Amino acid sequence: MPATTNRPFLGGNWKMNLRLASAVELAEEVHAALSAIPLASKVDLVVFPPACYLQAVGRAIGHGPPSLGAQDLSAHLDGAFTGQVSGAMLDDLGCGWVLVGHSERRHGIGESNAVLRTKLERALAAGLKVVLCVGETLAEREGGHARSVLVGQVRAGLSGLDRGVFGSLVLAYEPVWAIGTGRTARAEDAAEAHRWIREEVADLYDPGLAAATRVVYGGSVTAENAAELFSRPEIDGGLVGGASLKVDSFAAIGRAAASRASHG
Ligand code: PEP
Repeated sequence: MPATTNRPFLGGNWKMNLRLASAVELAEEVHAALSAIPLASKVDLVVFPPACYLQAVGRAIGHGPPSLGAQDLSAHLDGAFTGQVSGAMLDDLGCGWVLVGHSERRHGIGESNAVLRTKLERALAAGLKVVLCVGETLAEREGGHARSVLVGQVRAGLSGLDRGVFGSLVLAYEPVWAIGTGRTARAEDAAEAHRWIREEVADLYDPGLAAATRVVYGGSVTAENAAELFSRPEIDGGLVGGASLKVDSFAAIGRAAASRASHG
């Protein structure tokens, strides 16, 4: 699979952290820090605040960077779905992006491949760009099943989609055992998993589309390890949890992503 020169992507997933005032403060700081990064305009920089703070964070970041994303959306369009938020509602709030299949929903809440596929289609239909997260558990990796798990998740998520939607998609390889654990995948293991993912996209579509499909790494990315991870040709950027809650670390990771753009 040829190396890619895709537009880098960096997402900051704030999860269920912060309060209104601290979320707005972080948004203002992140906006200032990312705006100062040379080549920031060549990177998709996105923050994913809690749903209840989307509007306030959206106001704080204005036209960005970063752009605004949501952590989840409903699989339904409208109606009697207490507590859920639809893709159209996220669009109303100024979201351009949404996460689908984060492991804290896939494994933590038990969302199936079928539900996630519906969410992905709903998001695209609402005009949102999607970060589809895939990843194996520790038991699956240790049992030698990492590749088959990733292939299954990619196939369920992507097979049969119109190829025109791939420009609105980012795949995030997030090994479950590396998320929030401080245990980062070795760069060569992450790169191998990215190759497996692209090979599956090539099988479903073709090698050209696979090479052009952005695949990013998530799992305990920090200011210290981002440059090594992002130096791999297969890794188009990152999805960051804990380190996105501090402006200094997120900006440092943003600079690592932007330096990838300068090489691209
Ligand atoms: C994530 O939430 O997607 C994530 C990768 O978290 P962390 O960076 O904290 O491991």
